[in-house]
Amino acid sequence: MAILKTEAVILKTYKLRETSLILSVYTKDFGKIKLVAKGARGPKSKFKGCLEPLTHIGIVFYEKKTRELQLLSQAHLINPHVKMVGSLKKTILGLAAAELLDKAVAGEESFEKLFVLLANVLKALNENGGFLEAILWFFETQFIDLMGYKPTWNDCLSCGQSLGIDGGYFQAQNGGLLCSQCGAAGGGLVIHGETLEILYFLQRASLSEAVQLNPDQQQIAEIRKMFDLYFRTHIEHMRQLNSLEIYYKMK
Ligand SMILES: [Zn+2]
Repeated sequence: MAILKTEAVILKTYKLRETSLILSVYTKDFGKIKLVAKGARGPKSKFKGCLEPLTHIGIVFYEKKTRELQLLSQAHLINPHVKMVGSLKKTILGLAAAELLDKAVAGEESFEKLFVLLANVLKALNENGGFLEAILWFFETQFIDLMGYKPTWNDCLSCGQSLGIDGGYFQAQNGGLLCSQCGAAGGGLVIHGETLEILYFLQRASLSEAVQLNPDQQQIAEIRKMFDLYFRTHIEHMRQLNSLEIYYKMK
């Protein structure tokens, strides 16, 4: 058994017995792990206020490789994301990012860049106003890139012509788009040129720039459909994220 120390973001929590909690967390140094926090729901818990979903914490835990659940020993707050807690919209967008990561990442492999991305995205949701869904789009764009299945956004998959303002037809299974001419025969999800511009922008923008976006309803619908289709195609057993289903029903 080893005593390990790292940072973690809480993806999800489940009740265990009378007073305990199981946490699914994404850590800076050990990838995704499951922890038991004994007595966490009791009145005198030493973890009080630390173990809410999406909280960024420092942890010490006991690891036994043969066990699926590791034992949480200590936790302290690094960023409680207080403003996010006060906003249902921010919370649901944060939960959508956590849910995507939880569903798409299986193992306990260390991937610090992914941890940093998640922590930064939650921090940005906490701190920013504006068009907040763009923060999730930013997460999705970078996530696809880190997971190694970034689509070819710029050029037609078939003829290689640059797509630009004419837009194209998105083909999730082939990892890219067809131009308007090739797509007329090949088909796919229609993505207009202005929507493509947003996707290009998200790849070079900072998080505080992303929230300045002001997309119209058609662009929002195309981007939502495109990500949804892409994740369903490339991640096993993926369905629409529960958090997003709630988000789409909100005003
Ligand atoms: Zn083409």
